[in-house]
Amino acid sequence: MVSNADGAVRARLFFALWPPPEVVRGLRRLQVRELAQVPGRRIDPERLHLTLRFVGPVAAPVADCLRRAAAAVRISPFTLHIDRLGAFPRAKVVWAGVARPPPELLALAAALEAACQGCGLPAETRDFAPHLTLLRKAHRHLPRTDTPIEPLVWPVTEFVLAASETRPEGALYRILARWPLRPSAEKPVGG
Ligand code: ATP
Ligand code: MG
Repeated sequence: MVSNADGAVRARLFFALWPPPEVVRGLRRLQVRELAQVPGRRIDPERLHLTLRFVGPVAAPVADCLRRAAAAVRISPFTLHIDRLGAFPRAKVVWAGVARPPPELLALAAALEAACQGCGLPAETRDFAPHLTLLRKAHRHLPRTDTPIEPLVWPVTEFVLAASETRPEGALYRILARWPLRPSAEKPVGG
């Protein structure tokens, strides 16, 4: 969290996908079985997520603008196949990810990037690297990036705006809002 001039505390915001229970169970299995030999801190099941766009601490009017822009996003639901393990060795992070991101995932990230810029935020300079962090402080026996795994099938039907606060026991996340994925040209009912 960040204190601003008037002393108010702002949580860091980010857009994300939150996995459904069956995918969380699969990720949990990866943490404790496939990655059993890797020392590190296992991310709690309820904190597992895929960040679509990190926003950071913003003032209330910017957050309101982001909510309006998010509500206008039109992307069809899609299926993610979580089929890879990998690591960011310098960050000591082990993650699960996808070999080939589906176009809808890239379109969703791009739409949220446009939303952020439309609300006055600076452009993200780093490439979108979709992943779910499974372990932190992992420093030995890291999986090689793009290690194939038995795919976890994740039907993605919504995205969320979340707020994070840093706590001694790890980040605390709150889901502030959810929006369903839906195609841009929905057929009229009965039409
Ligand atoms: P903590 O920083 O308290 O250890 P955290 O990294 O999970 O926990 P945040 O820093 O608020 O919490 O980040 C929220 C999400 O956004 C995480 O998935 C994090 O990996 C991602 N993230 C953070 N900073 C950036 C950034 N500059 N660019 C892209 N993603 C980011
Ligand atoms: Mg962080």
